[in-house]
Amino acid sequence: MKVTIGHLYPDLFNLYGDSGNVQCLKQRLVWRDMEAEVCPLCAGDEIDFGKLDILVWGGGSDKGQALAVDYLRQIRQDFKDYVEDGGVVLAICGAFQLLGKYYQAGEDRIEGLDILDIHTERCDERLVGNVVLESPLFGTPVVGFENHAGRTVIGDCTPLGKVLYGRGNTGDGGYEGVVYKNVIGSYLHGPLLPKNPEVCDWLLERALRRRYGEDVELKELSDEAELRANRNMAERLGVGKKGR
Ligand code: GLN
Repeated sequence: MKVTIGHLYPDLFNLYGDSGNVQCLKQRLVWRDMEAEVCPLCAGDEIDFGKLDILVWGGGSDKGQALAVDYLRQIRQDFKDYVEDGGVVLAICGAFQLLGKYYQAGEDRIEGLDILDIHTERCDERLVGNVVLESPLFGTPVVGFENHAGRTVIGDCTPLGKVLYGRGNTGDGGYEGVVYKNVIGSYLHGPLLPKNPEVCDWLLERALRRRYGEDVELKELSDEAELRANRNMAERLGVGKKGR
């Protein structure tokens, strides 16, 4: 079995090692004797969404986001169709924001893809620091690092998780990220997936089942080091088993 991973706009969106998410997806397939093809999709490239199993889109600065607007307009309909058809997406920070209607950055309104009914407004105070979430999708807390000026209002959409430590989508709303069909949007850098193998496998399993059928099961991996890193962070922040 083979999984094709599209890495969207690595030239404009690659903050805080977010491309490590692509490596993690690939490596966890390789460990399971599966094939992974990574396709960098640079600004202006023709994108054949039908070929893709997973689309990974990293965080980007306000400038990178503004530069992407015209390219996004060109791929908007195909991207939306891919999402509605169950296509798997991981969108981090600036990319998470652009899944929505707009990112209002001062006087500039950066138009999003309008795939999700969410929007973002920039505030003066940046939200920077470690984050721990509790998500109904995963048995293990999700850990990561946030650094954003935008506050994202997700309205009736489903959040990725409840903030146990850190600030999250709006700084004070208690929730982080968004989940829609097979899409995860999140502010969490880190990169997110290496320390959260369950999140990585959630994406892989959905991609494999969409392509090869619902009975595909992922072979278990030991994840000892990954879970130790995860636990270490949660406990250091006082929200692990030994914490509150
Ligand atoms: N420019 C956006 C913000 O600060 C996104 C930043 C990011 O991707 N880290 O809110």
